[in-house]
Amino acid sequence: MTIKDMMKYIESEYSVINDTPCEICGGDYIAKDSDVAVINGIPYDICDCICSECGHEKTFQFCAPFVKDKNTKNIKNILN
Ligand SMILES: [Zn+2]
Repeated sequence: MTIKDMMKYIESEYSVINDTPCEICGGDYIAKDSDVAVINGIPYDICDCICSECGHEKTFQFCAPFVKDKNTKNIKNILN
């Protein structure tokens, strides 16, 4: 794990958040908090976000710790 990989991982999370419109009003989500939780033995990065327009809250889950390029698609599948 290098700093560069870590940055790439975090960037991929934020790009997913930025690409996801609010389900209520279509506004942009802003990350307000993140934490790591272990679910079924798999660590997840849990990111609490809030809509900048209407305040609707949404929690994003990302497989953690580290996402390889081939897993980028899987992140989106989890969200869908
Ligand atoms: Zn909204």
